[in-house]
Amino acid sequence: MAYAFAPPPITVLTVAGEDISVPVRRVHCVGRNYAAHAREMGHDPDREPPFFFAKPTDAVVAGGTIPYPRATTDVHHEIELVVIIGEGGRNISVDNALNHVYGYAVGIDFTRRDIQAEAKKAGRPWAMAKGFDQSGPVSDVKLAAKIGHPDSGLIWLKINGETRQSGDLKQQIWNVQETISYLSSLVDLAPGDLIFTGTPDGVGPVNRGDKIEGHIDGIGDLVVTIE
Ligand code: MN
Repeated sequence: MAYAFAPPPITVLTVAGEDISVPVRRVHCVGRNYAAHAREMGHDPDREPPFFFAKPTDAVVAGGTIPYPRATTDVHHEIELVVIIGEGGRNISVDNALNHVYGYAVGIDFTRRDIQAEAKKAGRPWAMAKGFDQSGPVSDVKLAAKIGHPDSGLIWLKINGETRQSGDLKQQIWNVQETISYLSSLVDLAPGDLIFTGTPDGVGPVNRGDKIEGHIDGIGDLVVTIE
């Protein structure tokens, strides 16, 4: 039977150095996964179970120029390690979790902080704070088969050359294997799922004209300009 409309385009990420791309399925995001960031947002960073929110798949874009989002005056940057799932599963053990990883990338979880603050106050979902159009730029993917599974290394973000966020992957409260294991106890994971793994402290606003550079040691760089 014919489709009523043309199917939506598939969201893809390019794989560095390979003539291949990753089709994106779901986009999961971990909240408050670095203690210093939990504190700057007014929370106790005790090791509570991780919590998750989502972005729509088509919120993921490559780096480049992104328009300043509408309906906000307070867009924040959150630099994050992004995990790309290559093998699906459910109830994945911590010990086996890294076998499910296809690769890694550098991402920014753009957040309409003003909308999020209202949602938090009213006990409402974060969907419109986190899941807006082009809210999740992601770099080229580096294959785990080539780079391994980095569990330490600098993660930083600069705006117009000035460092705003600087942390280390080893500061994650829940590491990648624990996050995969926990998430797979809640929902099935499948190839092409992305997991944004949380941000170190130093989040803050971006403005029109800003050049934002993100970097994770051993994984790569992402450059975004806000128009
Ligand atoms: Mn985030």
